[in-house]
Amino acid sequence: MKSVPFFDYKHGFVSHEEQILSIVRDVGRRGAFIMQSDLADFEAALADYVGARHLVGVGNATDAMEMSLSVHGIGPGDEVLVSAHTMIATASAVASVGATPVPVDIGDDNLMDPSACAEVLNESTRAILITQLNGRTAKMEPFLELAAQNDLLLFEDSAQGLGSRYRDQAAGTFGRAGCLSFYPAKTLGCLGDGGAIICNDDETYETYLQMRDHGRGKDGDVHLWGRNSRLDNMQAAILHMYLNEFDQVVARRREIASLYEELLTECGKLTLPPGPNSDPNHFDTYQNYELLAEDRDALKSYLHESGVGTLVQWGGKGIHQFSKLGLGRPLPNADRFFQKCIMLPMNMSISDEDVEYVAQKVIAFYE
Ligand SMILES: *Cc1c(COP(=O)(O)O)cnc(C)c1O
Repeated sequence: MKSVPFFDYKHGFVSHEEQILSIVRDVGRRGAFIMQSDLADFEAALADYVGARHLVGVGNATDAMEMSLSVHGIGPGDEVLVSAHTMIATASAVASVGATPVPVDIGDDNLMDPSACAEVLNESTRAILITQLNGRTAKMEPFLELAAQNDLLLFEDSAQGLGSRYRDQAAGTFGRAGCLSFYPAKTLGCLGDGGAIICNDDETYETYLQMRDHGRGKDGDVHLWGRNSRLDNMQAAILHMYLNEFDQVVARRREIASLYEELLTECGKLTLPPGPNSDPNHFDTYQNYELLAEDRDALKSYLHESGVGTLVQWGGKGIHQFSKLGLGRPLPNADRFFQKCIMLPMNMSISDEDVEYVAQKVIAFYE
């Protein structure tokens, strides 16, 4: 039987083994482990790629969000709106600075719904932390308007958004800060943990540089309470190599999405994500291929028995559904969504034949 894993963690390494080993040798022989030129070069290249003034490599996207909120003074007594359909990390970053995450329902595009944001606004609301999910940047005008009209700060959890664009503007560059993740399963993944903060103003840029390195500035003085959240120089060097091929990665992911669309569009039991050429305002990178499926759980077992790995994102729960965290409120769209959502394999190790096999099994299940 054929086997199509949901994600093959060793692929990123094995497919670039010689290049990676020569980077390890080079960086190792220079002893360049912490905040050396490889990090600065990668930061500059990635800032250029997204069209931002600055980018600061940090330990992971969760730290990136926490640091962004904290630099902008979000803290106790403040409410921050987050999508119900996001990783718990988005909400936990808000909680870590002492503020309250408020889950908001999703719209037809499965991203945060701006009209649902408007409903929960009150005098404590200070910010919107939007998630650019599954490699898609939200339609941003309503969020920018909402923020401007109500004096809110806008932040982006772009952990899944790198490379995606709305009206030719990159995810992570719309708000005060854009937070990226280089977790291995992300479109630009390293060999461990990593993340970055995108920002456009010079002053907060300096503060992030200090904050990630114990509050220390270039002058050797300690300017504020900081932490240790530095992106490893070695990981930065490896990421830079992957970044040089990132356009091909995005193109391949879009090709896989087209193929799924072509093969599954006739199946009346599914709601597919928008195809890569369906809307000129959106350039999607397909971090995930997430769809809604009738009989989701039975489909998942059937695919598993057929050797096809799938994943239900976040274990099938919105952030408002983790009852121990006390964020519970009825969010009808998200509640319906989590009963049907499933992700099919979408990564650099699958072939067209694999995609055809997956689609054929999905169709066979409903027949
Ligand atoms: C992966 C992910 C994160 C967390 O990223 P880390 O780098 O692991 O902290 C946050 N939000 C979303 C939407 C993610 O997919």
